[in-house]
Amino acid sequence: MRRAFLFSLLFLIATGPTWAQRPGGGGGGGGGGRVERDFKHVDADDDGRISREEWAGRGNFDLLDEDGDGTLSLQEMTGIYRNRPWGRFAGTPSPNEQDATAAADKIPASNLPRSLLCALEVGAGCRAGDWAERGLLDTGLGPRFPKGTLCPGIDDYFAMSYVFKRSQSDALHGGTDIPVAWDTPILAAASGTVVGIYEGESSMRGREIILRHAPQDTGLPFWTYTEYAHLNARPNLSVGDKVAMGQIIAVTGNSGTSGQGGGHRRPAIHFAAWMAEGPRYADSGSSIVPENGFWLDPIGFYRDAPPYDSASLKNLPPEQKSTPVGVITNDGTVLPTGSKRIWPYSCLSK
Ligand SMILES: [Zn+2]
Repeated sequence: MRRAFLFSLLFLIATGPTWAQRPGGGGGGGGGGRVERDFKHVDADDDGRISREEWAGRGNFDLLDEDGDGTLSLQEMTGIYRNRPWGRFAGTPSPNEQDATAAADKIPASNLPRSLLCALEVGAGCRAGDWAERGLLDTGLGPRFPKGTLCPGIDDYFAMSYVFKRSQSDALHGGTDIPVAWDTPILAAASGTVVGIYEGESSMRGREIILRHAPQDTGLPFWTYTEYAHLNARPNLSVGDKVAMGQIIAVTGNSGTSGQGGGHRRPAIHFAAWMAEGPRYADSGSSIVPENGFWLDPIGFYRDAPPYDSASLKNLPPEQKSTPVGVITNDGTVLPTGSKRIWPYSCLSK
């Protein structure tokens, strides 16, 4: 109860209006319809309350459960869209270096099997079986932020079914969505190199940037890629630029065709990751596709030990699904100290 009281107090101090509708216009319809629809979707047993189990994979349950009764009401769920002063880190200076290997490792997209291009980009006409084989599976992982920090959580998690929001018979979410206020700075989740920037005018993901991370950048025993989409402005970076972990690479928006239409707008990052044993990759024209690549659950990206493949992550015992993630706070502190991978938004120190 004491904990619930403290969280209520934090709400009073740290929260402002919700930002489902962009101040000053340009945001389209409000987010109310979306929240109600999503609440119904999350409330799988339809009892009018969201349990901890139903919220699994999204993080921040205790923060949102204002009255501490162990369930979320519709009103409490809207707390995920409340403006909080996270994401105010002033940024790490750009290394101002070019990575010549990024161009050298690029191969023609025509060299890759069509099934791979399809499976990693979730294009129309792709088969659900291809996605699953390549790791687009609901693993049940959720983020656990370091003690003493408050960070923005997830609303739409990795590989959740999108059949309810897209008029397709099978549709899966190829990433994780973290809703935050418009123009909140997005941080490079690890050091790496810019390998793709897309305007995405006809893409559901809209404007996006993709980074490639060498094993030494992340401490992971393979090459990884992170994707940041729905950007509000074109990143002030070019393909081949090196970036440092925590560097501000873009600002949050809701660009892309998925953001159009009434009731669906809310600014958020669509954050995704892939992995591959080797460094080679292709540019399909609308995304980066690693040679023999696999989806990496964006929460799995933060694990310090195997497994990393989605099928094994899915089979982890429930107590191992809550995954500690590294963060950078608004004052630039990296937690835990020495982390090589951080959440793509800065967090508050409590
Ligand atoms: Zn998304």
